[in-house]
Amino acid sequence: MTGLDDLPLRDDLRGRSPYGAPQLEVPVRLNTNENSYPVPEPVVEAISKALAAELRDLNRYPDRDAVALRADLAGYLGHGLTGEQVWAANGSNEIQQQLLQAFGGPGRTALGFTPAYSMHPLLALGTGTRWVPAPRGVDFGLTADEAVAQVRAHRPDVIFLCSPNNPTGTALDPAVITAVLDAAPGMVIVDEAYAEFARPGTVSALAVLPGHPRLVVTRTMSKAFGFAGGRLGYLAADPAVVAAVQLVRLPYHLSALTQAAARAALAHRDTLLGTVSAVMAQRDRIVTQLRGRGLRVADSDANFVLFEVGGDQSVAWRALLDQGVLVRDVGLPGWLRVTAGTVAETDAFLAAMDKISGEGP
Ligand code: PMP
Repeated sequence: MTGLDDLPLRDDLRGRSPYGAPQLEVPVRLNTNENSYPVPEPVVEAISKALAAELRDLNRYPDRDAVALRADLAGYLGHGLTGEQVWAANGSNEIQQQLLQAFGGPGRTALGFTPAYSMHPLLALGTGTRWVPAPRGVDFGLTADEAVAQVRAHRPDVIFLCSPNNPTGTALDPAVITAVLDAAPGMVIVDEAYAEFARPGTVSALAVLPGHPRLVVTRTMSKAFGFAGGRLGYLAADPAVVAAVQLVRLPYHLSALTQAAARAALAHRDTLLGTVSAVMAQRDRIVTQLRGRGLRVADSDANFVLFEVGGDQSVAWRALLDQGVLVRDVGLPGWLRVTAGTVAETDAFLAAMDKISGEGP
């Protein structure tokens, strides 16, 4: 059998592991922050129609610049944005990869405040960008002073901010974003994959875009829209940033089917986003219930909750799995992350928590 070591793999990829959230067939899957609600029937029909309308023309390449979809996405975002300020790709992962291809790369540095989204360092690795993990402060918080000190110390070409942050769940104070922008020598990417779930009073970095051409806000339809399988992520930024990513994107990267399905989904956004408040209610319920059980829990503006189990978290992870509940071990000693889904899923998760702590029936 040929192994990886037998191949002339790049030295910096040797010994590395791929991104790999377990995809296990268990009754309650709360480990990848998906939206638990299936696509509603009227939206299924609309997407089917939109896809059918594309099929005859699949002999042709799709619109390379996804102009209509970008205009729709800009309309959804508001803030006076237009399609020229928006770019779309196969998930916000691909958007961030394109940003690193354009603004990172060999000889350049990207910095993120850990713990944060595990794909940011992997995308840096894949694009040959040196990764600098900068620690967050007390209770996973990040103040403007702490962030600026790290930026000044490392002077990275690309900075990742994640708001609401994965895996902690908490949104950033916009003062942190503006302070980082003022101190940053290069690009600042604010990953807002979970923006739609933020608690009232939270401010999106979209509001900070005017006058900041080195700021990029990335979003996705994978979470609030319940469209993870459709693979549609996007960014909002100065049109010059869009011109930059067009230098590195693959031609025709976004299939005609993806563009059509995403446009149909966006046209039904009121229906699709109808699940957001239900998910937020379960998120708040999980936070309250776990705190009521005496556990430390991070404040959440997302569709998931980070909670402390103490000791070796992989033991609690396994015990929950034995109860049919799959949560996420993000490698943070003593902590686990659970996605907020349906009422029944929260019931099952809380019952499993009681069972493993010996309090349940
Ligand atoms: N950013 C964050 C913070 C995420 O948690 C995720 C998904 N887990 C993504 C980006 C990527 O999402 P997608 O590629 O599906 O848009």
